[in-house]
Amino acid sequence: MRGEARPTRARIRLEALRHNYRLLRSSAPGARVMAVIKADGYGHGIDRVARTLAGEADCFAVSGVDEAMPIRAAGATQPVVLLGGFFAAAEIPLHVREGFQPVVHSWWQVEALASAGPHESLDVWIKVDSGMHRLGFLPGEVAEVHRRLTALPNLRQIGFLTHLAEADDRDSPRTLEQLRVFDQACAGLPGPRSAANSAGTLGWPAAHYDWVRPGISLYGASPFIDQGRPRPDLRPVMTLESGLISVKRLPAGAPIGYGSTWRCPEAMPVGVVAIGYGDGYPRHAPSGTPVRVDGVESQLLGRVSMDLITVDLRPCPEARPGAPVVLWGDGLPAETIAERAGTIAYELYCQVTPRAPRQVV
Ligand code: PLP
Repeated sequence: MRGEARPTRARIRLEALRHNYRLLRSSAPGARVMAVIKADGYGHGIDRVARTLAGEADCFAVSGVDEAMPIRAAGATQPVVLLGGFFAAAEIPLHVREGFQPVVHSWWQVEALASAGPHESLDVWIKVDSGMHRLGFLPGEVAEVHRRLTALPNLRQIGFLTHLAEADDRDSPRTLEQLRVFDQACAGLPGPRSAANSAGTLGWPAAHYDWVRPGISLYGASPFIDQGRPRPDLRPVMTLESGLISVKRLPAGAPIGYGSTWRCPEAMPVGVVAIGYGDGYPRHAPSGTPVRVDGVESQLLGRVSMDLITVDLRPCPEARPGAPVVLWGDGLPAETIAERAGTIAYELYCQVTPRAPRQVV
């Protein structure tokens, strides 16, 4: 191993992204697809994600204008929906020029649009709070917001968008309840509608409407909490991997790592892997979290350090320094690791740091 670079990296497989996109598209045949690529494409690199989907996605969605510009820089010309809307009226001319479509979620934004003058060919979305109670107008306000926006000169299209709070739970009655509230709030008003995130796209046909907005599933993680049911045929785009840099045999009773939270139950081989929370591996992953060493499933031992983790080599006693270790991705779903670490795959992806360079394959 001497002289080689640190083996820690996030491999990004763009073919898997294409596959997932097509699966999502075929899951909602009557709808168009707004690919959600905010937070740097959920940590995968917004420029490469936008470029990969530029020939297929009907539209992209990000949080705000700062995330939308890299999509244009990547050469993608589709409309870009700004899910967080605009943060200041001064942004609006840029939206008009670049084909960005802000979500309007608050009265101050309605006022800002009204005072910002005519906006040739600006499309906007009214955010309807159908029950998540985060951003959006309450159902009783929606008709009045629509009336006010319709009265503005040169707004081209006004759509309606809501967000589902529990679509990841296929047994929850909340999703159909939210759709009922959404339908009522927009009843009789013209314009496209959108409600489905990944879970809505894959699990709730009634939520498809005109546009679906998948995010996490594009990157290959299942959006559902009921992992016992058949998993959609999603392929991991990111594989976080590193390598063994030390192997030794420890006696029974030897403690491992900070805080001595795990002790060897018998004399056994352990390996040290060049990855830690400084690379984005979750510090709260407990002993027993699965890892794949040289293609064999094994487990994390003791606490996660900044640069290093320790793993059990009993399932693969032949493993030597240089052996590859997969932390999530190929053969090890990110959502499994996330569940062990008390978080979600979204956060795992977003927290991979630049110290684990993205390597496109
Ligand atoms: N729509 C909105 C408004 C969102 O905030 C998000 C993600 O947070 C999405 C769609 C995509 O959701 P998911 O990644 O669960 O598919």
